[in-house]
Amino acid sequence: MTKPEDRVEQLRNEIREHAHRYYILDEPTVSDAQFDELVAELRRLEAEYPDLITPDSPTQRVGTAIGDLFAPVRHLRPLFSLDNADSESDLDAWHQRLTRQLGSEPDSYSCELKIDGLAVVLTYRDGLLTTGATRGDGTTGEDITANLRTIDSVPLKLVGEAPALLEVRGEVYMPYEAFEELNKRQAEAEQRLFANARNAAAGSVRQKDPAVTASRGVDIWIYQMGHVEGGPELRSHTETMDYLASMGFRVNPASERVETLGAVKAYVSAAESRRHDEPYQTDGVVVKVDSLEDQARLGFTAKAPRWAIAYKFPPEEQVTTLRDIQINIGRTGAATPFAVLEPVFVGGATVGMATLHNEDQVALKDVRIGDQVVVRRAGDVIPEVVGPVVAARSGDEVPWRMPTYCPFCGNPITRAEGEAVARCTGGFDCPSRVREWLFHFASRGGMDIEHLGYKTIDMLLGDGLISDPADIFTFDVDELREREGWGEISVNNLRSAIEDAKDRPVARLLTALGIRHVGGTMARVLVRAFGGVSALMEATEDEISAVEGVGPVIAAAVSEWFSDPSNRELVEKLGAAGVRLVDPVDASVPGDLLEGATFVISGTIEGFTREEAQAAVEERGGKATGSVSGKTTALIVGESPGASKTRKAEELGIPIIDGDTFREMLDAGLSALPVDA
Ligand code: NAD
Repeated sequence: MTKPEDRVEQLRNEIREHAHRYYILDEPTVSDAQFDELVAELRRLEAEYPDLITPDSPTQRVGTAIGDLFAPVRHLRPLFSLDNADSESDLDAWHQRLTRQLGSEPDSYSCELKIDGLAVVLTYRDGLLTTGATRGDGTTGEDITANLRTIDSVPLKLVGEAPALLEVRGEVYMPYEAFEELNKRQAEAEQRLFANARNAAAGSVRQKDPAVTASRGVDIWIYQMGHVEGGPELRSHTETMDYLASMGFRVNPASERVETLGAVKAYVSAAESRRHDEPYQTDGVVVKVDSLEDQARLGFTAKAPRWAIAYKFPPEEQVTTLRDIQINIGRTGAATPFAVLEPVFVGGATVGMATLHNEDQVALKDVRIGDQVVVRRAGDVIPEVVGPVVAARSGDEVPWRMPTYCPFCGNPITRAEGEAVARCTGGFDCPSRVREWLFHFASRGGMDIEHLGYKTIDMLLGDGLISDPADIFTFDVDELREREGWGEISVNNLRSAIEDAKDRPVARLLTALGIRHVGGTMARVLVRAFGGVSALMEATEDEISAVEGVGPVIAAAVSEWFSDPSNRELVEKLGAAGVRLVDPVDASVPGDLLEGATFVISGTIEGFTREEAQAAVEERGGKATGSVSGKTTALIVGESPGASKTRKAEELGIPIIDGDTFREMLDAGLSALPVDA
């Protein structure tokens, strides 16, 4: 077993190495969560064996020694790190410590978003910016004045009566939009992509050439006053921030002063749930005791103020080993590479697989089998491999190439000129393609056949009970009675789900067939124009492309699909099995009631699924789109609408209507909208 002193030494070396990579090279090789875990282990050991604590231990010091790329700058006041909280009970414990030390609960707190960027210090003499520096080791930072001057929101001269000497602290960060733009340019120039916005921001301000910083679109939020000489009397952090804002500093408007620990927790949970709505990366909430007098009484530990705490959101990025890259053949034959990973806990779940999108993405990101890779799982978005940790390569990593033959059916995989996607040429001889097609057919976006997921489809395919979507409606469901886990109830449930599906609106069937480019909206356009599947099947390519909203690519795909005899046979087989091919005409719906109007639906409207609400608009000649723009007639909001859509509509002065007005509009047309619309 390793002796504690050896493990402590080993941890310190590793932590120093990672801190150097992170703060100086802007090229970390482990995730923040993995780094924090090493620090936590060191802390545990030092708590158990206090004799092993040394003043130069990373637990006692901030940041890291500075590099030699820039001149050193001594800060007027040392900069600190922040103690972390991961849970409500950590916040409770912090609150208890404060209360004990102050003799009573603090009056109020300032709650702020913790921006994921890098800390900088700006110094002003008589209102003029004199130096801008990184945090460095807390006492001495690097002089990056020339670079920080290129950020538009860094005031070069303060507004109004400025103090003789002023030091402020802030976080330089890169908004997502600038980050994506930067990575696009990097890709075009065949340069390395940045793994995340924080590394990109840090890399952008630690540049020898300020013109590079200027081109990167970084910005700053000021969050703290350091040293001041000759300023007004200030009593609280909130007052200080108002004062800084009045002099022209950019202060985050999401900050809130609250009075109780309960309100702090409410702020934290609200911030966590709207984490992905902000246009920049946040990794937590910083809570500060608001009264400056209380702050002075609480003071500092060796590394951090006692009056503040950083509540960290669960990590959404981790670093793990890429064991293999395999492909999946989708319902249109598309070969999609995916990563097989050493399982890792990220974004609240254990992830063993992640998408790699397509062949070009693998090449662009240059991920190789055996690489350490950054895996991201944010909110509901499926896990993805962000990129390799190039600095961690041993040289044994193996570049990946799209296989020449399909691993499922042995047919060639080809990629047409100018297409991003390679495809299996095996058609429906490819078992993977058939399986995905059947799954898509039965899925909620298709015919919505409950109880018919991958597991049941695999069983039915394996036993030869079905081989195409029409078979779903004709196979003998009673045969399942013999199977393990299939009792009377589950057999009957599946039978009635299949029966129900026969009567779905034709647009659903058309979507479920899996014709390339034909999703729900396009299917409804086609059904409205042709009335049903049989008429569409007989239409020529020209007739299809003559329909408004149907472009030549879609017309060609539809026409090609229906020209395949096996597909025509399938449609006939579906009709013979009793699946609806023509919708009954509902004379009560005037087809032009919402003609020319465009709507965006956000949130759930009572009594409608998302598809039904869209269909209701489209049946009346209106359009339903996904994003708010100047062309939007109205934004329809239901339960839990997206904050960004509402904000955009407000900005553009577009009417926002609720579910009741929406229902009225379906009967009365646009006259139901608010008058000033
Ligand atoms: P910290 O997490 O202790 O928090 C302090 C920092 O938070 C401040 O310096 C400031 O930059 C920032 N901040 C953002 N918004 C703020 C606000 N409103 N008020 C006050 N501060 C605000 O930062 P640290 O001391 O730099 O701790 C290290 C962090 O860096 C950890 O998240 C750690 O995981 C990461 N790190 C990662 C690696 C790696 O190899 N992956 C290496 C070193 C450090």
